[in-house]
Amino acid sequence: MEVIQEIKKRVYSFGDREADGNATMKNLLGGKGANLAEMSKIGIPVPPGFTITTEVCTEYNKLGQEATVNLIREEVRESVKRIGEIMGADFGSSSNPLLISVRSGARVSMPGMMDTVLNLGLNDVTVEALAKLTGNDRFAWDSYRRFVQMYGGVVMGMKPESKEEIDPFEAIMEEIKEDKGIELDTDLTTEDLKTLVFRFKEAITKRTGNTLPQDPWEQLWGAVIAVFNSWNGDRAVYYRTMNGYPADWGTAVNVQAMVYGNMGENSGTGVCFTRDAGTGENVFNGEYLINAQGEDVVAGVRTPQQITKLGSERWAELAQVTEEVRRETYPSLEEIMPSIYKELFEIQRRLEIHYRNMQDMEFTIQNGKLWILQTRDGKRTGAAMVKIAMDMLKERLINEQEALLRVEPVKLDELLHPIFDLTALKSATAIAQGLPASPGAATGQIVFHSDEVEKFKHAILVRVETSPEDLEGMHRAKGILTARGGMTSHAAVVARGMGKCCISGAGALKINYKTRTMVIDGREFHEGDWISLNGSTGNIYEGKIATKEPELTGEFAEIMKLSDKYRTLKIRTNADTPADALVGRNFGAQGIGLTRTEHMFFEVDRIKAMREMILASSTKGRKRALDKLLPMQRSDFEGIFEAMDGTAVTIRLLDPPLHEFVPHQLAHQKELAEDLHVSLEMVKAKVADLEEFNPMLGHRGCRLGITYPEITEMQTRAIIEAAINVSEKGVQMKPEIMVPLVGTIEEFRAQKEVIDKTAELVFAERNTKVEYKVGTMIEIPRAALIADQIANEAQFFSFGTNDLTQMTYGYSRDDAGKFMPIYLDKNILKADPFETIDQKGVGTLMRIGVGRGREVNPWLKIGICGEHGGDPASIEFCNQLGMDYVSCSPFRVPIARISAAQAAIKAQARNS
Ligand code: PEP
Ligand code: MG
Repeated sequence: MEVIQEIKKRVYSFGDREADGNATMKNLLGGKGANLAEMSKIGIPVPPGFTITTEVCTEYNKLGQEATVNLIREEVRESVKRIGEIMGADFGSSSNPLLISVRSGARVSMPGMMDTVLNLGLNDVTVEALAKLTGNDRFAWDSYRRFVQMYGGVVMGMKPESKEEIDPFEAIMEEIKEDKGIELDTDLTTEDLKTLVFRFKEAITKRTGNTLPQDPWEQLWGAVIAVFNSWNGDRAVYYRTMNGYPADWGTAVNVQAMVYGNMGENSGTGVCFTRDAGTGENVFNGEYLINAQGEDVVAGVRTPQQITKLGSERWAELAQVTEEVRRETYPSLEEIMPSIYKELFEIQRRLEIHYRNMQDMEFTIQNGKLWILQTRDGKRTGAAMVKIAMDMLKERLINEQEALLRVEPVKLDELLHPIFDLTALKSATAIAQGLPASPGAATGQIVFHSDEVEKFKHAILVRVETSPEDLEGMHRAKGILTARGGMTSHAAVVARGMGKCCISGAGALKINYKTRTMVIDGREFHEGDWISLNGSTGNIYEGKIATKEPELTGEFAEIMKLSDKYRTLKIRTNADTPADALVGRNFGAQGIGLTRTEHMFFEVDRIKAMREMILASSTKGRKRALDKLLPMQRSDFEGIFEAMDGTAVTIRLLDPPLHEFVPHQLAHQKELAEDLHVSLEMVKAKVADLEEFNPMLGHRGCRLGITYPEITEMQTRAIIEAAINVSEKGVQMKPEIMVPLVGTIEEFRAQKEVIDKTAELVFAERNTKVEYKVGTMIEIPRAALIADQIANEAQFFSFGTNDLTQMTYGYSRDDAGKFMPIYLDKNILKADPFETIDQKGVGTLMRIGVGRGREVNPWLKIGICGEHGGDPASIEFCNQLGMDYVSCSPFRVPIARISAAQAAIKAQARNS
């Protein structure tokens, strides 16, 4: 083991058109490192550097600092030397110093979640050398100032100690600016910057007890270790957990030669996208700042300008700025640096064609030379994801299978969210406008602090600008509004990734965190006031605005249709009402996989008859009450059958424990006693009688139908009569009657007998017949194990993976919330098994169930109707098991259609 560790390559160099790694090595080099290597290989001008692998991060977590540094010391020394050779500079030299950046880079992009240190290698001596070399004192001292600030924050822990405190370095800077009566950082003189460096260092020593290291190597190791540590920082852990990324992935560390966008008017920096990340439109776009360093663009301190002329014109229109003002004050890069723009435009085209995906790039112009700092597949909204996939297919950049695989199924959810109702929007008052940073509609109550978002069910988080600390609040809020920052600000990028509506850079907002107010045009808005955001236009409205349901149209409809060409699994929906059934059908459901009949009993007019049935002390009394329920159930089923227009419909017999239907509060018990003309004592006694220690393992499911066959009789009659009634109207219906919670063949047999007898009775009465099937849920582990016996008598199986998971793990579905977050946090479980199928355990039972069932009856129809039916990974698993269909809630149907297509494509790729 030791020997293997010693010979393993841990550091990968790139630059000067060469590289040790390539784009396929994301797991080892992180996304950024792999792309830097690839870009270098294909001749894109990237500053030279090297990547310390993600495996070293994992080693560091086990071995600690000293042993890890020993493992990579030599390789790092060699690689630093190589950078110096390419750049013609020397790390640590007092006359010609090489300066470097140190950044994190996990295998997936985690914007702003981990740490970065720039200008590393500067100290009290090298700063003077840099001043001499560039002939620019101010630039050298500004770079040193930035280094001390970043190193102090990231490596030495100089961070605000409470949410009210601002960054300690910013505080010092503000103090100096106030003393000197200046507003902008750019107005600080060289002398001011020297004072800042001195004051910053002094503050670090005072707070941390340590001095800022002057030795560049000590600086480098400090920064590398800090990046490793940031993988386990609060922000990164939260982001990882939110996205389900495992802790053992680790982050790589990218060390690169510094290039400077802040060397004067011939320098600049920016971020750009090969297509529009919000809408998917095929237009090159992005933002830049002249004489600035990378973080200035995303931090939102200065408002960045648009790269393209088109973008700049669109921006001016939104900001209501005249063409003259636009050209003079906010010109595009295309206009002020045409040849650099041309080079950038060519590079972005090459990169998009090379990676065959929309790219998000960072660049720096140093003294008129363009450097590409990074490229990655751009984060995008659900709408952009679908449009880009379909457009690239039409452009023949990708094929049909690739277009389908480009869709992240759960992101389709964004397209299924409500949008503003156009008539309601017309009468709404716009109070301000910002940039349309992330599309969608959001209505909610204003809240100014991220950790207070939970105060309101529908909150709009309003900030001057956001930082990674705000992540959790952003996630919980319905929408995000910022006063500062452009289309590539933290708020904008993160919101788009989350698919959350966001408006950034709304300059008219004057926010006061202390008083929890914002002022727009002299009007004051308070915490709790309702506002609405249209993330697609940037309009901010006062009050609530009605929303309406989305529709399946345009590219969304096209990609759905394409998915149907590839998938072999059928998609059904779980629906308890005609309205739900219709939603599912409009989204493409090919039938109903589960109608939970009990939900129909909770409506006001029905619950009374249901309670009467439960309280009845004799079969006769129960039948009387059931007779009242029969017409209601029958008309519900007729509605559902008509909505599904002849496609398959599975209806499940009554399942939950009866205590769920009786009142538990005294006042309600009194009411019930009066209604039914019985004594309160009698009601109380019955409620007490229904009390169970483990109701989910108690008197429920087919156990109800076996103890009270008259319930099964009534439900069967309602189903069969409804089917006959609609068939007389021309809707041919073959209902599938499903027995819940079967664990023995005798249980199934007993219920089937009641169902068949009742059906025969109805046929005789009506002098007609309809076809029907009788099948069962497989949701008790024992049912999966005796699936061969059941398949002899049942005509279909539907896996109830909610109960199957509950009973396999022994975790109560209703109580798991108490320990599940801790289990996930401590890595005891990798994922919540109620959300995604546990393929090892529950999945094995399913495999046995399918296998044994099909051994006896190869044509047995098998599906799934637990919540997992809408989860992409579980759908892929169901596809592998050879099921016929998955059934999920109506709004998940499009997600299931795409997931099923992806599962089929992957399966085909594996088999070929
Ligand atoms: C199941 O158990 O997976 C199921 C679909 O039934 P219910 O959720 O109603 O118990
Ligand atoms: Mg169940």
